[in-house]
Amino acid sequence: MTNILQQEIKYLAGVGPRRAELLNKELNIRTVEDLLRHYPYKYVDRSRFYYLHEISSDMAFIQTKGRILRFEKVGEGRSQRLTAIFTDGQQSIELVWFKGIKFVLDRYKPGVEYVLFGKPSFFNGRYNMAHPELDLPSELPPPDRMGLQPFYHTTEKMKSHFLNSKAFQKIVATALRQVESNITETLPAYLLKNFALLNLSQTLANIHFPANGELLNRARQRLKFEELLYVQLDLLRQASWREQHLSGFVFSQIGDYFNRFYKEYLPFELTGAQKRVLREIRKDLGSGKHMNRLLQGDVGSGKTLVALMAMLIAVDNGFQAALMAPTEILATQHAESLSSLLGDLGLHVELLTGSTTAKKREKIHEALRSGDLQILIGTHALIEDDVRFAQLGLIIIDEQHRFGVEQRAKLWRKNTQAPHILVMTATPIPRTLAMTLYGDLSVSVIDELPPGRKPIQTYHFYENKRQTINSFIAKQIQAGRQIYIVYPLIQESEKMDLQNLEAGYEYVRESFPHCQVSMVHGKLKAAEKDYQMQRFVKGETQIMVATTVIEVGVNVPNASVMIIENAERFGLAQLHQLRGRVGRGADQSYCILLSGFKLAADTRKRLEIMLQSNDGFEIAEADLKLRGPGDLDGTLQSGLPFDLKMANLARDGQMLEIARNTAREILQKDPQLAKDENAILLRQLKKSRSAALNWSIIS
Ligand code: ADP
Ligand code: MG
Repeated sequence: MTNILQQEIKYLAGVGPRRAELLNKELNIRTVEDLLRHYPYKYVDRSRFYYLHEISSDMAFIQTKGRILRFEKVGEGRSQRLTAIFTDGQQSIELVWFKGIKFVLDRYKPGVEYVLFGKPSFFNGRYNMAHPELDLPSELPPPDRMGLQPFYHTTEKMKSHFLNSKAFQKIVATALRQVESNITETLPAYLLKNFALLNLSQTLANIHFPANGELLNRARQRLKFEELLYVQLDLLRQASWREQHLSGFVFSQIGDYFNRFYKEYLPFELTGAQKRVLREIRKDLGSGKHMNRLLQGDVGSGKTLVALMAMLIAVDNGFQAALMAPTEILATQHAESLSSLLGDLGLHVELLTGSTTAKKREKIHEALRSGDLQILIGTHALIEDDVRFAQLGLIIIDEQHRFGVEQRAKLWRKNTQAPHILVMTATPIPRTLAMTLYGDLSVSVIDELPPGRKPIQTYHFYENKRQTINSFIAKQIQAGRQIYIVYPLIQESEKMDLQNLEAGYEYVRESFPHCQVSMVHGKLKAAEKDYQMQRFVKGETQIMVATTVIEVGVNVPNASVMIIENAERFGLAQLHQLRGRVGRGADQSYCILLSGFKLAADTRKRLEIMLQSNDGFEIAEADLKLRGPGDLDGTLQSGLPFDLKMANLARDGQMLEIARNTAREILQKDPQLAKDENAILLRQLKKSRSAALNWSIIS
């Protein structure tokens, strides 16, 4: 039986080969199913008529009934436009057309009753509407039948071929009519029943043309549940596959390097949390199972040390270890701090980054192949194809959120058997989310800061307080401290960012003529960046003016003040990361958030959270709650190895939990999905599986 949803859209009435090709090229829509899975991004309520006096500026669209009083042509030639005064009998609104003037004048007549529909905007003290839709009441279904009208994303190219949202909507309507009664269900009957879900046919009908708000919600719920359930089923099945098939190198002994380091070189007592996490890691490494672990710990909680000690275990067992960092600055700093921690322990450690010279690189490659090099620290350079290890046993990825799945996949292939993986992050994420994003990995948490740290004091000032802040900076510098001043990156315009930064740099130089100032940003050559950074690390410069390149990991314990310019432009996680650059020594540290006066409500809330909490986990939770739609889609959700059209991992946490539990129950009862009632699940999993890359084993 061929599935009716798999039919190509070119055979649909109103589509044809040319539109089919356009839809395929622009939106990757080939089959009826693809078409029906292109969901509206919003709906507009056409279920009632409004009066013009009811318009408010937060209404995206309104529908009203009335008459055109008169038309008027304004301007000449290309800048000519047509305006009309439209009245509902009590109030009036101005309608405007910039093109198609002749068409409008031919078609619409003053004095005739029309249904007006469009997007009002407020200009020059009155509302107007550009390019509205006007229909005779007799041409439209009655309003209570029009319900919620769907709007679809289209592309410029589609629009230029008259395939706008409205045309798309017509095609969808046709498709739905044609297939509606024949849609093959994609969830087992018992799930539909247990969770009182709409069936697929009802769901697709209501997601495109909701009969009412409630049915729209139920359609959405069903789609979210379905997406998340399949993701979870997939993850859990892969996890159990891993358990059964994937063995890990066995690091059976705690050897000389580890013991000597622990007894003779460790500069301080490990915190309780560090010890616990190390035990968890040791257990994994000795178990014969493959370790795939996420280590979460707030900024400054001492993850690096844990990483080092895990690497020593690998080395003690005759394996090599690699530590990968997202930026050159960070990799360099890791290399230096690890080397100084290791002292004369006699390990062969090297740093490999984009700016390692060819000659040095060759040497490193050779030492890696011979097995002489025990610990390699680096950036992405470390996963390039020509880097071969003799016996890579453990990979540690620092600040993992900057590494894509593909990059992790490359690492995976660095030995005949998968090396153990430890992923470290200072951006805590709720557990279910973590498990979904990174496969079924185990999670360790360092929930304790090293002793003796004074909590950082955080303040928010408006820009008019610059003088006060400057004298505070001067005092701190006099007391021997160092200062960070960070400027935001606005991605749209790198050039402007740089201008901002440079202006800031000049201002700082003028304000503190007796101080040495470093400046670091992403556009600097690696050598220059390194030089500037080193001067600050060594205390040769007192002030570091930088963009967020210093956000991750940089460790200068003597720096005690973090000034964040335009703090309103930063996300919470970023603010917290930046703040974590100070408070690393024994001195009282300060974080000063500078902003303009005008702050949006959620921005104000973000800054407030920063003032209230120093706890990364608390801030992450708050962040997740605060984030509107869209934000997370851009950062977390992109680069996911699966496609979520309806569900959003940040906002649908509860649904995620339900989906995960359901998936687990199903697999407990029927691990192979061999029962009849689960046949649908197996079929759908296989279908999506063949489409997706086999990403699972790498995360
Ligand atoms: P992060 O978790 O942010 O990567 P780091 O590993 O850079 O934190 O550690 C932050 C600072 O704390 C470093 O200067 C490190 O030497 C120090 N540190 C780590 N562990 C301890 C400890 N148990 N006691 C005291 N200081 C520690
Ligand atoms: Mg770190």
